[in-house]
Amino acid sequence: SRFLANMSHEIRTPINTIIGLNEMTLREENLSDDIIENANNIQSASKMLLSLINDILDLSKIEAGKMEVVPARYETGELFSEIVNTTWIRAHEKNLEFCVNVSEKLPSMLYGDEMRIKQVLTNILSNAIKYTNEHGVVTVEVRRTATELQVRFEDTGVGMSQDAISHIFERFYRQDKSRTIEGNGLGLSIVKRIIDLHHYKIDVESQEDVGSVFTVYIPYEMFTGLTKKKKD
Ligand code: ADP
Repeated sequence: SRFLANMSHEIRTPINTIIGLNEMTLREENLSDDIIENANNIQSASKMLLSLINDILDLSKIEAGKMEVVPARYETGELFSEIVNTTWIRAHEKNLEFCVNVSEKLPSMLYGDEMRIKQVLTNILSNAIKYTNEHGVVTVEVRRTATELQVRFEDTGVGMSQDAISHIFERFYRQDKSRTIEGNGLGLSIVKRIIDLHHYKIDVESQEDVGSVFTVYIPYEMFTGLTKKKKD
């Protein structure tokens, strides 16, 4: 793990250089179709490599017990609009019906590790979009109970066998039928480790060729920091 973490650090810098220089090529005028196609391929391959490197770094940080929980107050509305903003384009490109249903009763401010909550939810939503064929449906529902937030992702995608469900949180596991779809099999293992670290919960239901439902339960955390004393 330490070797991988060190290597990942070393690899990140040159990949970022490649992505940056390639972006400059793409911004040039009068490019031939061949050059545009090659540069687009460089872009997607290097972004894939970067996300693999970032995943390996995250995983080794968690396994070394070095991922810290950083709780703070955050705006609930902003959290969900960011998650949707980073994913809807992909859903749009695949002509998916993308439904987002956020309860009006959500508290406007919550306390917790916003960055990691976002990482967990974005990962599951990206998978729902990735594993759903064109013209399918992806639905996100956010509800509250007295004690927790419940975020439910439903898709009409390729689904999973019961055997696959029991392995999806393992490192590098990919269901056979997912092999033609881009991925590294690390996303959900990171999700599960973050969920365990923060004492959240996750539920998975799925049926092959019908679709999947992932539900994440995030208990409300209490703000225990000092509050300013009122001046007399
Ligand atoms: P990746 O998507 O990069 O392969 P993940 O760790 O995110 O890795 O997911 C592990 C595996 O779980 C995937 O390869 C896929 O087989 C399965 N999977 C995850 N989400 C879904 C989903 N919404 N529908 C069907 N299969 C899924």
